[in-house]
Amino acid sequence: MTALIIDGKAIGAERRAALKDEVAAFVAEFGRAPGLATVLVGEDPASQVYVASKHRACEEAGMKSVALTLPADSTQAEVEAVIDELNADDTIDGILCQLPVPEGLDGDAISQRVLAEKDVDGLTVASAGLLALGAPGLRPCTPRGCMVLLEESGVELSGKHAVVVGRSNLFGKPMAQLLLQANATVTIAHSRTADLAATCRTADVLVVAVGRPEMVRGDWIKPGATVIDVGINRLESGLVGDVAFAEATEVASAITPVPGGVGPMTITMLLANTLDAARAAEARRQTA
Ligand code: NDP
Repeated sequence: MTALIIDGKAIGAERRAALKDEVAAFVAEFGRAPGLATVLVGEDPASQVYVASKHRACEEAGMKSVALTLPADSTQAEVEAVIDELNADDTIDGILCQLPVPEGLDGDAISQRVLAEKDVDGLTVASAGLLALGAPGLRPCTPRGCMVLLEESGVELSGKHAVVVGRSNLFGKPMAQLLLQANATVTIAHSRTADLAATCRTADVLVVAVGRPEMVRGDWIKPGATVIDVGINRLESGLVGDVAFAEATEVASAITPVPGGVGPMTITMLLANTLDAARAAEARRQTA
């Protein structure tokens, strides 16, 4: 079997084009663009690159984007005051604090200060609680992007066994919740799982987010399974995922490549979350 390659670049581009139209319709209806604000503390070069690409994507989609950069020696109270101002600003629908923050600041406390309705990263306690309850709310971008890839590839989830390898709050746990909501039977595996290969072999849908280059081998995959590789590992030879891609394509029915699979979906889902937050804000205003 040679697996279908799930083209995240193409799916992401299609979604962004559709989002651009939806943003234009929102602007026509409400007379304003959905707004995303980022808060970057200090001058970490990698964070500057990430923030710039988020704003570029916003502008391409026709959204308002506000990039706030605070000095590295800002106090916790100063950064939190900026988040509070953005929480109160009706032109801002989504807020994210780019992590990591400089030493001495509590990045988690800053992120948790964002109101649930503006939490476009979906990582606050409130958003995690809404997800666990299956209630409406903003979902973390990368897991949401993986669900779009599965949907666009026509992968049936109801009644299937999904195994998520990795249990981080950023990815593994919310991914498992989303699969559960889609009626999959879900197993979460991690570094203490007794026989990881055997557990992976039971998966109809295998989602791997560990951060170990090519850890999942071809013979860990059930023939015909769908494989979503979230890992991003920088080696001298280039970027590789957590799954041994060449081996896996011989066994799986569909697989995401690295790069060009999950990666392009994350910023796309940040835009989708910002638009969702803007629509919800306008709906609240109309009923207020
Ligand atoms: P974390 O380091 O927070 O979590 C890694 C998870 O993998 C942990 O739950 C850990 O288990 C588990 N793990 C580590 N080693 C093993 C092992 N040998 N066997 C089984 N499980 C293991 O990472 P993240 O969840 O933040 O990210 C994971 C990967 O996904 C990284 O490569 C990251 O770069 C990538 N990523 C990509 C994104 C994208 O946009 N494409 C977005 C987010 C992440 P335990 O809990 O027991 O320690």
